[in-house]
Amino acid sequence: MKTTEILVIGGGPAGLSAAIEAASLGAEVTVLDSDLKLGGQLIKQTHKFFGSKEEHAGTRGLSIADILFEELEHHQESGKVKVLSNATATGYYKEDGVVSYVVGEEEYVRIKPKKIIMATGAQERLIPFPNNDLPGVYGAGAIQTLMNVYGVAPGDKVLMVGAGNIGLIVSYQLMQAGVEIVGILEAMPKIGGYWVHAAKIRRMGVPIYLQHTITEALGEKVIEGALIQEIDNCFKPQGEPKKIDCDIICLAVGLTPTCELLWQADCSMKFVPQLCGYVARRDALMRTSHPDIWVAGDAAGIEEASAAMVEGRIAGLAAAASLNHGTPEEHKERSALYHKRLEDLRAGEVGEKIRAGLCEVCCECWG
Ligand SMILES: Cc1cc2nc3c(=O)[nH]c(=O)nc-3n(C[C@H](O)[C@H](O)[C@H](O)COP(=O)(O)OP(=O)(O)OC[C@H]3O[C@@H](n4cnc5c(N)ncnc54)[C@H](O)[C@@H]3O)c2cc1C
Repeated sequence: MKTTEILVIGGGPAGLSAAIEAASLGAEVTVLDSDLKLGGQLIKQTHKFFGSKEEHAGTRGLSIADILFEELEHHQESGKVKVLSNATATGYYKEDGVVSYVVGEEEYVRIKPKKIIMATGAQERLIPFPNNDLPGVYGAGAIQTLMNVYGVAPGDKVLMVGAGNIGLIVSYQLMQAGVEIVGILEAMPKIGGYWVHAAKIRRMGVPIYLQHTITEALGEKVIEGALIQEIDNCFKPQGEPKKIDCDIICLAVGLTPTCELLWQADCSMKFVPQLCGYVARRDALMRTSHPDIWVAGDAAGIEEASAAMVEGRIAGLAAAASLNHGTPEEHKERSALYHKRLEDLRAGEVGEKIRAGLCEVCCECWG
């Protein structure tokens, strides 16, 4: 049985920021991440990020990860932070507050933290259609991992399903790797992602089929093509299906928060469509209904890395403060700064959906 003051589960931008913040106040922190390399989504993102200057807008995602690693390293050297990669948290046991995790595929460990920050990110949604279990049907995150982390092109001709930011960005990255995009399907009547990404794709001659979906993957053992069809506003198929020649089908149809551990801890949860799934109710300092558990980043609702980093800072600060690290003046000053940053990130039309979602789950205080 190991112990730690604060256990951060997930080493993406939210978890890394939480660990840096808590350690900067003097807390002892352990970070677990199931991947071989920390950084979460950031290490797959070769494009320059939007967001705010404070959260490194205009910097490529993988370079933002390097900035966070550098900050974290400083706290690792001072012995305040311990980082475990290839370590997956597998369970939270509410009777004694113990978390179990597996290192690699062999070592099974139990740890009893005083406080926990859940920063487990998101998982990809998939859609049902005949033959969607054939090799060659991927989620966009898997394609990014193959391509941008391991340097492996997934195939030659990709049909992309989904014209949100992820579908558009991954299509562009595939083209940069020399892979042909035979088309992008979007069920809605308009493109969901930013126009700047869509314009780049269109300029390269890739057709974007609005109000279209995939109705079947073709092939015996691997993908040899796909049937696509126009749909109406009620998603009912119109006209005849059209055959598309491709060897890869990439699904970029949305993300949903990874919240299994929060359920296990009996945190109060709510389904909030604007935040893309079930999320934990939380107070302004990201504390859930469980007094020793905080949440941050995509696990608290799908948003962006910039917001994930600020939420991580807030959760790290609050968890450390609950253990009497730092002074009340420091807490007040930092909390005001981070809340202002979040407010700026969520301002205007772009943040409207998130603000509406947060109204559903943000509680004044748990008392
Ligand atoms: C294609 C694409 C483009 C994007 N572009 C932008 C952009 O331009 N600007 C922007 O601000 N954002 C962008 N984002 C969004 C951004 O990447 C995410 O919002 C951000 O990474 C969320 O951070 P996170 O730390 O909450 O989760 P993640 O980055 O997903 O990290 C979660 C981590 O938790 C780990 N984990 C999960 N479960 C466990 C467990 N049980 N035990 C141990 N570890 C676990 C995972 O391995 C992962 O490393 C983009 C995302 C994608 C996919």
